Amino acid sequence: MLNIAGLRADTPGCENQVFLDSAGSSLPPRIVVDTAIAHLRREAEIGGYRAANERLADLDAVKTAIGELVNTEASNIALSDSASRSWSDFFYSVPLGPGDRILISGADYASNAIAALQRARQTGATVEAIPSDGSGQLDLDALKAMVDERVKIVSLLHVPTNGGLVNPVAEAARIARRAGALTLLDACQSAGQLPIDVIELGVDALSATGRKWLRGPRGTGFLYLRPELAATLEPGRLDLHSAEWTAPSEYTLAPDASRFEFWECDIAGRLGLGAAVRYLLDLGPAQVYAAIAERAEYLRKALQEIPRVTVRDRGTQHAGIVSFTVDGRSGIEVRDRLAAQAITVTVSHRSSTLLDMSARDLDSVVRASPHCFVDFDDLDRFISAVRDS
Ligand SMILES: *Cc1c(COP(=O)(O)O)cnc(C)c1O
Repeated sequence: MLNIAGLRADTPGCENQVFLDSAGSSLPPRIVVDTAIAHLRREAEIGGYRAANERLADLDAVKTAIGELVNTEASNIALSDSASRSWSDFFYSVPLGPGDRILISGADYASNAIAALQRARQTGATVEAIPSDGSGQLDLDALKAMVDERVKIVSLLHVPTNGGLVNPVAEAARIARRAGALTLLDACQSAGQLPIDVIELGVDALSATGRKWLRGPRGTGFLYLRPELAATLEPGRLDLHSAEWTAPSEYTLAPDASRFEFWECDIAGRLGLGAAVRYLLDLGPAQVYAAIAERAEYLRKALQEIPRVTVRDRGTQHAGIVSFTVDGRSGIEVRDRLAAQAITVTVSHRSSTLLDMSARDLDSVVRASPHCFVDFDDLDRFISAVRDS
């Protein structure tokens, strides 16, 4: 069992508010903040290079911890400054030409869709969205019917930014791979709240951010690459860390996923991310995931009982995001009224998941995303505030 009082004591930010935005930017545990700040102080004392040299083992441990979380070797992980950076680093490296097809998910994130549209314009490829099924999840039969040898890459989405469903990504990845397409999984909303096993999922690449469910610092993210790709795919941009200048007109790429990293980075942020992932591993990810699911389900049930409130989550398997609308109030109004009572939620707008929100004729949804440090008193306070709003 998780010690919720201990978790709350580790999370100073939850003392004076009900915090329900771990899908946006979560509250980090104390160890994450302390680790990052201590490193910034050390850089100020002795300079950034010596400070980094003192922490080489800890920096290596960041990728080891992420690898442990997603079941892979550290050499298959590339660190970055965001999920979108990692996603696009991979996506822009996949060769495309006229007539090639890019498939995106029906609830795909705007950044992914925009990148796909840009590459289609640049290369003569096309972008098509995989429809959702009646439940709102990725439609596997539709995907089966869509794939052919011209599909070069399929953008899969584990959990959308605007709701609590979980897509059947392992099955989707199998379908795409059988057709010879690469699969890139956006795990931004699942890393830190759902089990991720890259072998079981069978994806070629996966991207995630540090600040959401993993509770790391802002400006951190990572990319997983299947080992064969980590050793063969050439990134669209290189520097002296991702490659080595070996002769006047020669260079060699780094032999592993670090070819997708640049040399310069926010060392303090990375150490903080490592501390966040280690904190999660030490708590026991399965217990954390169960606590998140329990809280989200509690919210869904309670919100459904409130007149004027519509829970907007779809899908048959649910995760930690609870999305809803209130009749007669915009999402922003609901958010601001709650904020005035020290309750933090966010609004997900149509343009973030344009296809999905347009299909459902929604301009925005309010998003409540409880992490394990949120207790049931917090949840009840939120529910009665929504009832009174
Ligand atoms: C937040 C989010 C992203 C982008 O993450 P960044 O770290 O801001 O780049 C991508 N996909 C989904 C589903 C998200 O919710």
